[in-house]
Amino acid sequence: MPESVEHLYIHIPFCHRVCPYCSFYKHTPGNTDLVSFVQALLHELTLHQRHLSIKPKTIFFGGGTPTALSETHLNTLLSGLRELTDLSQLQELCLEANPKTVNASKARLLHDHGVTRVSLGVQAWDEPTLKLLGRDHAPDEAEETYDVLRDAGIPSVNLDLMFSIPKQNLAVWKEGLEKTIALQPDHVSCYNLTYEEDTEFLAQHRQGKLDADGDRDADHFYTAIDLLTAAGYEHYEISNYAKPAHRSIHNQAYWRGANYLGLGPSAYSTYQKSRWKNIADTTDYIRLISEQRVPIVETEDLTEKQWLMERVALELRTAEGMSEKRVDASLSDTLKTLVEEKLIDHRDGQIRLTRTGKGLTDRIAEMLLPD
Ligand code: SF4
Repeated sequence: MPESVEHLYIHIPFCHRVCPYCSFYKHTPGNTDLVSFVQALLHELTLHQRHLSIKPKTIFFGGGTPTALSETHLNTLLSGLRELTDLSQLQELCLEANPKTVNASKARLLHDHGVTRVSLGVQAWDEPTLKLLGRDHAPDEAEETYDVLRDAGIPSVNLDLMFSIPKQNLAVWKEGLEKTIALQPDHVSCYNLTYEEDTEFLAQHRQGKLDADGDRDADHFYTAIDLLTAAGYEHYEISNYAKPAHRSIHNQAYWRGANYLGLGPSAYSTYQKSRWKNIADTTDYIRLISEQRVPIVETEDLTEKQWLMERVALELRTAEGMSEKRVDASLSDTLKTLVEEKLIDHRDGQIRLTRTGKGLTDRIAEMLLPD
């Protein structure tokens, strides 16, 4: 009997406007046949069910912008999932959303389908930063969408923010955090802007038009920790803060290395130490599914070293830290030095980053891996 998959990721690749910093697989809906797309997602699920036992504890719709789908399509998708899978163990049903893509009626539909969590891409609360990011919403539109989600009774709402954006000074970032705290979301994610491959932002960065600044990164990162923890949010992962009982269950499972199945174009899946990726082309994805073929284009078996690197990189970022068993005995002196330098806390068999260490997560993870 195969191990069951308890976590589903569903990729909806549509965005009304493409942001210049974004490296995810996404595109405008254009002339995509959305009825066929939704049917393809449901059909892909049934193809996997032939050899996998799927009983989700969490379902996460990411993208792209899942709420770019109309109410009709969301209704078909969410009803279809309920018909095709056993949701008796479901603890979290989460969708990513963008301002302007959720009105009161869509929010009610999500609520009525049992959506427990919505993650709203606010990114910034000031016009100049939103403009630089190429976002298609104004600050008050993000607030309106947040209110709509609240009014519909969505049990847990996350606000996504970005920091260390060129020209975003510390005062602006602080004001954005204060505005966020005033709204009292259940969860806040704060992501450091990075210049990703194949993005317009990377090209502009290379041309010297957009800067990167390590000091600005650190100032913004620690300001977020200080303001959000003082406001009652637990800093439970480097980029994530939650009110009690509002941690993301899906993301925690991913960080712990649970099996997950990804549906939709470009989606990754990991089962035991096997990883595969779906084709990153919506038209080809729909065609392959219509031919009864799984749309997988890359498969790899993770080596022990790759697996360990991922575990260390992801677990070290969490408040629980990682087990000392992950660290090779040959690195005991490195561990000692990191403790002496107050970058890690090594207690009860766990290794956790200190406040100072949190600003150097990637470097510390590298130091704790054998060559
Ligand atoms: S809305 Fe989100 S997924 Fe879409 S382009 Fe912008 S950042 Fe990327």
